[in-house]
Amino acid sequence: MEDNLELSFDIPDNVLDEIQHNIEEIIQSFPIPDDNKLDVIKKINFMYSQTKYLSVTDGLTGLYNRRHFQCNFDREFLRSERYDSKLSLAMIDIDFFKQVNDTYGHGCGDYVLKEIAYLALQTFRKTDMVFRYGGEEFAVILTETDIQNAIIPCERLRKNVETYPFIYNGQPFNVTISAGVCEKDSSILSAFDLFEKTDKALYQAKETGRNQVKAAL
Ligand code: GH3
Ligand code: MG
Ligand code: MG
Repeated sequence: MEDNLELSFDIPDNVLDEIQHNIEEIIQSFPIPDDNKLDVIKKINFMYSQTKYLSVTDGLTGLYNRRHFQCNFDREFLRSERYDSKLSLAMIDIDFFKQVNDTYGHGCGDYVLKEIAYLALQTFRKTDMVFRYGGEEFAVILTETDIQNAIIPCERLRKNVETYPFIYNGQPFNVTISAGVCEKDSSILSAFDLFEKTDKALYQAKETGRNQVKAAL
């Protein structure tokens, strides 16, 4: 796994809430004339919402970022333990992505990332959460989902990417992805365990030929 955390706007939720609380206090104590009080509040709220949005999303694809993945993954793991609900994780990695950059340029690589992010958002359920985990790696948290039902959308995405008519500067080309999928079971004791097993399944998908979805054993 690549470790390229983008820290620039990664402000945790509780800190953002504290910031908003402070802003509200400032507004109340500051002598803003009544006739433009609403404007000031609107502007500050807009800036706050924008900062909050930037703190959880990836600028290129618009997907949730890695920091947001970590918060949600930990919380969903705890929820699934507490309510004994099903939980699966998928890790997806673009095959030979370096070759795409090397052959057609980084602009083309960026285009591929955006298209695949779009395809992923279209493929998974609204209750699933899709994240850009790292450079060309995506994570999907599938709540209330067992392994069989997690494999189905991953396989659908794999096929959709394989058959998608990528075209950049008039040049058509193909891209494939590999995925590892794992369901939380009694042998998995922590969110970290689930992540590790999913990552291992992804590694197996790569090792045994790529362009395939592998379930963790
Ligand atoms: P594999 O099938 O084993 O996954 O091979 P790969 O080439 O996909 O893997 P490798 O880790 O060798 O290369 C990943 C490439 O992803 C290298 C890096 O330049 C590229 N990359 C990471 N983030 C971005 C990005 O934001 N934009 C672009 N264009 N490329 C990126
Ligand atoms: Mg990779
Ligand atoms: Mg790759």
